[in-house]
Amino acid sequence: MVTCFGCISLWLFLEGLFNPTTNQREPHRGLPDYSHNGTEHSLPAISILFHCQTQFGSELTMAETIAENTAKLQLDAETGEMVSKNELKKRTQKRAKKTAAAVLRNSRQASTPLPTGGQDLTNTPGGKPAKTDEATFDPDAMFKQGFLAEVYKLRQSENVVTRFPPEPNGYLHLGHSKAIAINFGFARHHGGKTVHNAEKEEYYLAIEETIRWLGFTPSEITYASDNFQRMYDLAEELIKKDKAYVCHCNESETKLQRGGEDGLTPRYRCAHAKQDVDTNLKKFRGMRDGEYAPQTAWLRMKQDIENPNPQMWDIAAYRIPKDQHPHLRTGTKWRVYPTYDFAHCLCDSFEGITHSLCTTEFIMSRESYEWLNHLYESRLLVEYQPMQREYGRLKLDGTVLSKRDLRRLVEEKVVRGWDDPRLYTLKGIRRRGIPPAALLAFIYELGVTTALTSINIKRFEQSIRRCLEKDVPRLMLVLDPVRVVIEDAEEQDLDIPFLPRDPKMGSHKIRLTKSVYIDRSDFREVDSKDYFRLAPGKIVGLLHMPYPIKAISFTKDEATGAVTEIQAVFDKDGKKPKTFIQWVPEGSPKAEVRIHAALFKSDQPKSVPGGFMNDINPDSEIIWPNAMIETGFYEVRRRAPWPEAEGEKTRECGPDSIRFQGMRVAYFACDSDSTDDKIVLNRIVALKEDSKSMGWVDFCYENSDSAGVFSVKAFHRSHRSTTVGHSHCILIVLQSCPTGLTSSM
Ligand SMILES: [Zn+2]
Repeated sequence: MVTCFGCISLWLFLEGLFNPTTNQREPHRGLPDYSHNGTEHSLPAISILFHCQTQFGSELTMAETIAENTAKLQLDAETGEMVSKNELKKRTQKRAKKTAAAVLRNSRQASTPLPTGGQDLTNTPGGKPAKTDEATFDPDAMFKQGFLAEVYKLRQSENVVTRFPPEPNGYLHLGHSKAIAINFGFARHHGGKTVHNAEKEEYYLAIEETIRWLGFTPSEITYASDNFQRMYDLAEELIKKDKAYVCHCNESETKLQRGGEDGLTPRYRCAHAKQDVDTNLKKFRGMRDGEYAPQTAWLRMKQDIENPNPQMWDIAAYRIPKDQHPHLRTGTKWRVYPTYDFAHCLCDSFEGITHSLCTTEFIMSRESYEWLNHLYESRLLVEYQPMQREYGRLKLDGTVLSKRDLRRLVEEKVVRGWDDPRLYTLKGIRRRGIPPAALLAFIYELGVTTALTSINIKRFEQSIRRCLEKDVPRLMLVLDPVRVVIEDAEEQDLDIPFLPRDPKMGSHKIRLTKSVYIDRSDFREVDSKDYFRLAPGKIVGLLHMPYPIKAISFTKDEATGAVTEIQAVFDKDGKKPKTFIQWVPEGSPKAEVRIHAALFKSDQPKSVPGGFMNDINPDSEIIWPNAMIETGFYEVRRRAPWPEAEGEKTRECGPDSIRFQGMRVAYFACDSDSTDDKIVLNRIVALKEDSKSMGWVDFCYENSDSAGVFSVKAFHRSHRSTTVGHSHCILIVLQSCPTGLTSSM
């Protein structure tokens, strides 16, 4: 019995990667409140201008100070402002006090007990998880220790050969990236190679492209159909050894033989199992030659009907498929085709696969795989014996991944296509701009066990953010521009670093013009004490600008009530501004910005009454058609990929590799709808986690019962409180394994 201790330590480790501060970006509110009906609100501009002139002498020092300050600014994720380190510290302390008081209140009110046998993994010293040193993180760690290291110990081959895809079907999605990372990574770590089995997949060219995008190269591409004749010959061999027979039983007859509907009646073999070798051989050749209609005859392996494992109940080796479509590579040559169970094992042997790694859904199949292996030991069929081992699948909450469900979303035009950025197909992930390095880092951080890993998408987003934080340039982008006329501005060029803390990334110019644009959400008509951005009579810093500005008046559109222009002046004398906002100069290029959110409203869209189509989030795509971006974008576009990672650096990259941080807004990448003249951007991920939807998943375990059923519970809780909550509880039940195989999740 494999317990989930590894899994618990995994989550403990992960927990350390996430900071529980209650950070939240203030959402865009669209139009501000209109508490005044007038069209113009004048403020005493004259006196301010006068004041500025008296301070002329200190202009240079002030400009330098501001420039220096803006380079060191930090994001206050709660308000979305850029503020000085000191200011952020002050605000954080204030909020921490508030949170601590709330926690104290909550813990007095209620304390939820843990389930029997559960471990409280949530109370780390100081109430805060320990920080993990990212610099020491070893991406090869998952091959050096744990499950995959144990698998290697079982067969310490000098010439490791793995394969991909390890499973027969499926459209490539986030879960498959784990299979790619494991199979290619395992072979690379041990200096071996990975074979790409091309044929099983409908879109193998696209799959190969994805493998290369992730930075891996298949050592060779093989086709199962190249082995059709060899497999057919071995099937005849099997018949000759009296290890296979041709059966004509239909589905319901077969079900009865296997214990009936509930599996409780005694199992038995049909009369066909008693046929002699010559009859079986004649019938099998008849199947090949078209003497039987589809589905009226099938070749069954003569295994062990008494064995508790259904994979041993004389399963199929060859069938005559109902639809006799010409085969992609062999055309109409064959009417009979080997089953996955038969072909998988034999092809692994033909190709010299040392470690055939697949997900735990195939654990029961290992016995039939080894049954054929036993035949190998006796040298009855082929020489080489491959080894199959199984790892836990990656399961995603809050989305659908099956081909059928995805097709419905595409056909009913809920999404833009198979590569819609809201989908977790690998094509969608790529179009959204998620860097391959982030995808791999996510897999490596999760590690590999035999446990089914049920993962909240928010965790994935943390990995993406960490990857982008260090390596992509920053630009100023305004989603909903409103004009600000700075009356005393003099046109000049400002030099702005792409990433202040990394001078190697270089810098670009931005023109300070008399009129600039800021985001509509950064201006309020009526000021208040806890508001730090622009309002009449208030100063705010504009990022990289020599002085803060002070709003003196604004104009509104009478019909709509929307602010159309803000008049401002430089504040060359005032105190350092508390906060800085982004802006773009007059004449900056326009962009269409698509902000994507979760496609579904719930964590389990398929459990919603009426199905997942009833769970679509109507706000999953919000478009800002008139956004503006500074011209530095053109240089960022020219110098892509950002970050420069394996898989993208050596090849021609798509628009998805043009990534940057829109300061105070989000991380963005170009969408494939972009042209030379039109910029279309996708939000890759927000700058900070939305604390409301962010949950930690903590694993607790419960004792196994007498039948060997082992259960693991995961608790999803809000990090606003130290009390463990029991909402969103996921129960994973381990199947007891009657065959004596290693039981696993
Ligand atoms: Zn039969």
